[in-house]
Amino acid sequence: MLHNHRFQLRVKSPILSSMTQNLRTILSLPLLALASFCIANQAAAFDPRAEPEGATSAALENSSQSKVIRARHHMVVSANPHASEAGRAILRRGGTAIDAAIAVQMVLNLVEPQSSGIGGGAFLLHWSEQTRKLTSFDGRETAPLAAKPTRFMKNGKPMKFRDAVPGGLSVGTPGVLKMLEKIHKRHGRLPWAQLFDPAIKLAMRGFALSSRLHALLQKADVHSFGPKAQAYFFDKMGDPKPVGTLLKNPAFAQTLSGIARNGSDYFYRGPLAKQIAKTVQTSHANKGDMTSTDLATYKALERDPICISYRTYNICGMGPPSSGMLTIAQVLKIIEPLDLGSTPLNQTALHLISEAEKLAYADRKRYMADHDFIEIPQGLLDARYLAKRRALIKPHKTMGKAKPGTPPAGKKRSGIDATTENNGTSHISIIDVQGNAISMTSSIEGAFGARLMVSGFLLNNELTDFSFRPTDKQDRLIANRVEPLKRPRSSMAPTMVFDRHGRLHMVVGSPGGSRIILYVLKTIIGHINWGQNARSLTHMPNFGSRNGPLELEKVPECK
Ligand code: GLU
Repeated sequence: MLHNHRFQLRVKSPILSSMTQNLRTILSLPLLALASFCIANQAAAFDPRAEPEGATSAALENSSQSKVIRARHHMVVSANPHASEAGRAILRRGGTAIDAAIAVQMVLNLVEPQSSGIGGGAFLLHWSEQTRKLTSFDGRETAPLAAKPTRFMKNGKPMKFRDAVPGGLSVGTPGVLKMLEKIHKRHGRLPWAQLFDPAIKLAMRGFALSSRLHALLQKADVHSFGPKAQAYFFDKMGDPKPVGTLLKNPAFAQTLSGIARNGSDYFYRGPLAKQIAKTVQTSHANKGDMTSTDLATYKALERDPICISYRTYNICGMGPPSSGMLTIAQVLKIIEPLDLGSTPLNQTALHLISEAEKLAYADRKRYMADHDFIEIPQGLLDARYLAKRRALIKPHKTMGKAKPGTPPAGKKRSGIDATTENNGTSHISIIDVQGNAISMTSSIEGAFGARLMVSGFLLNNELTDFSFRPTDKQDRLIANRVEPLKRPRSSMAPTMVFDRHGRLHMVVGSPGGSRIILYVLKTIIGHINWGQNARSLTHMPNFGSRNGPLELEKVPECK
């Protein structure tokens, strides 16, 4: 994670791997991915037969030199080397991409507990090489049955974001485990129980508290954490435990053993579900209303992915309740006919791209939310509508703040949304030896979620991704308002890029709150328009506009 103090721009570079999925190609040509550890805390694990001489995954993590990693057989890219290694071990045992993703997610939950885990939600794209089918899965949290549109209003005013985060009020019913189990039933090869072994062993053995986790704890207010989380992360004086502390988590090992033996029912039904509900209802701050029934009735969903053509590629991503791919698709279709030049980050291109982003973010705020509850206009990707939007971009002048448009069949009167969005999250990209791949973005929302710990894992604060106000100043209902069982709008954007022959070309995704969309766009445009490879894309500073100022990342020098 990087901080740009000048622009107050909080960014993480996309975790990106560039892959080709044709089996014969895999065997004869290397897969290509980048590990750039001075930019982001990412880790790639790969088959050592293709490893550069003398290098190991662990050495790469500590290296100040970014390297292009090539693998012949399979590849895992995640935010932590323990997690990537766990995925690699599963792939070497003959596991599929989803088998590996489960092992990676469980280890991430342990070693990067602030970002994602079974107490949170996720979106996943799955590419099956055998059937040549792309599927997307929604494991997003839901609002409890008891939730009301005024959930985050106090005395007629929206709560302050930071006041709403800690405690049970912000916790949505978690979806990660249900989603992974659903996909494993369809695409897994190794037995479910085996996939939990690496995380269980590491939780018992202990792992060294990383400098990144430590730095995030230093920025957090110890008093915002519930007692169990405080005891796990902080010492008796209330200071974060030092870097390198051996953290053991037997409670999490026990939770995972139960899930390994009994499936997701261990989590969603029975004593653990009761414990989760009780923790939410009796929390130290902002008591919540999630019940065991909310947990027992949670459903992970299969959704249709959204795919668009862009130049000679097809780009596919996650549809609502994520705004990720719809917004990315609007921007790409708006800029597609424009001349962005061939030099990366040229001034004309930065202007055109950020103006297109303003237009798309304006539509996102008005129209995008959980489409099981509200109607999202079909016309958001209509070519004539987007041509009209494109015409609003002037070559030498900014439009200032963009207004939402009126797409065909668009509801003109939905409210203007003021949802605040945080930064947290993790992204996992995996390809297995058969060429099946996953792109999974997983989150407990902000760093440390609701700051509540149950049985060794943290609960999310994903409900703060809803609009705190149910109506805008003109009393129009806001699409992303809280409603019972609704999923908060997300920006998560797990993405896959296919070439003109329908072959998987690139797997992309990123953490970063509402900036995820900008990061993924930079990566796609940088590759397709400017011909940049994975290595230079990871080094390329992030840029873009979320319908505010043009944000530019100041890239610190690698030490
Ligand atoms: N909760 C955010 C979302 O779903 C993700 C937070 C982040 O990426 O940092 O869009």
